[in-house]
Amino acid sequence: MRVDGSCRVHGAGRWLRGVMDQAEIAAARPAPLARHALEDARARMQETGQWHPLQSMGRRWNMGCVALEITQRCNLDCTLCYLSDHSEAVKDIPLAEVFRRIDAIHAQYGPGTEVQVTGGDPTLRERSELVRIIRHIRARGMQPNLFTNGIRATRDLLAELAQAGLADVAFHVDTTQERKGTTNEASLNPLREAYIARARGLGLRIVFNTTVHDGNLAEIPEIAAFFARHADAVSLASFQLQAETGRGVAGGSAGLVSMPRVIGQLQRGLGARISFDTPLAGHADCNRHALTLVADGAVLDLYDDKRLLAEMLDATADLKFERMPPWQGAWRFLGRLARRPGLAPLLLPWAARKAWGFRGALWRTRGRAHRLAFFIHDFMDAGHLCRERIGACIFMVQTAEGPISMCLHNAKRDAFILQPLELPGVGWWDPLTGQGRVAPPPAVAAPALSPKTARGRRRIEIRHQARA
Ligand code: SF4
Repeated sequence: MRVDGSCRVHGAGRWLRGVMDQAEIAAARPAPLARHALEDARARMQETGQWHPLQSMGRRWNMGCVALEITQRCNLDCTLCYLSDHSEAVKDIPLAEVFRRIDAIHAQYGPGTEVQVTGGDPTLRERSELVRIIRHIRARGMQPNLFTNGIRATRDLLAELAQAGLADVAFHVDTTQERKGTTNEASLNPLREAYIARARGLGLRIVFNTTVHDGNLAEIPEIAAFFARHADAVSLASFQLQAETGRGVAGGSAGLVSMPRVIGQLQRGLGARISFDTPLAGHADCNRHALTLVADGAVLDLYDDKRLLAEMLDATADLKFERMPPWQGAWRFLGRLARRPGLAPLLLPWAARKAWGFRGALWRTRGRAHRLAFFIHDFMDAGHLCRERIGACIFMVQTAEGPISMCLHNAKRDAFILQPLELPGVGWWDPLTGQGRVAPPPAVAAPALSPKTARGRRRIEIRHQARA
């Protein structure tokens, strides 16, 4: 279990300090509908001591992203899976409920919101339904992202989803998945390359998710170097730190995995000092973000001038560069520069310094460079949820009742997925049978698990029992 400083100090109000106890976790409910999501986000950053000139939450964004879990089923059994013991035993929520949740996300956070279509693995859902889900999110003006282990994400499917409006595909590939024939992270590189080839040229932003755990921390430099070598296709390399949550057999880190260590390993692999100390969104103990340019293997840090970043954020708070084509972003940015002449004396010398430092690589590539972003996300152990971080959370899961912090959701997942759903005009839907009923079903009872439905720790226990 990792104990971080934010549970003890920071400028947060008294009620936000310390760790949530079991009764508090059990009583926690999703957020009610916010009429002013941007102001609400700003207030949360202020209350939790995270409001500063480099904070984009409450300035540019009202939420980081919202996970829409369209199935609880998965075709892998990761050693650090965040799903719960009973996930595999519940049916997929009805399509009408998925659409209702998409509309609720839109009502809460508005157009432009990033919606992670996830699970389980969302590609296990019927293909035509998956396409309709992506289309519905896009029709609401939001950004649909597909989070998948890639096994069923064929090029044909990705092409159809891209047509339907998919913005990003995020492939989860790492050694926690124990894929057949692979022994370490390097042995997964051919698979990563195959996934890149499937998604390349479809107009999708390609993202890779990597769980950092005690067993692969030493290999993080090589993984970072891999993404730098493929920066022509990969836009974002995201790293999630080992946490004791969900059904995975690995549990918490033995103390090896920490934010500073992962940053050190990434810098080693990239061969450059990259600025991860600008927490641009949410809580500094939860999220770190870095932006680089890559040319001919050389990596250039773009977040090293804090004063310039703060000025730029202030001048362009209403623009969402990350979600625009580069030419459009550059054009809008120049427009802002023209309106804020004070920015030019900061920006132009910085740009000149960067171009000079990068001149060799740019010369060799004839001026071609690729943008590569890095993200580190430090999920909390289910038994150690810091109130302050939950208060500043920017990653939500959409439940039937509304959005709730992902860490909190993972700590009490069964309370949501075993809940019968009331579907307007249909009646009650039972998550264990997938059948509708007229009257509300009796109180939720966790189903008995079988070798077919058990995963992670419970699968191993059931196997041992069977052998015994
Ligand atoms: S999901 Fe957890 S780690 Fe991520 S931002 Fe929210 S509170 Fe922080």
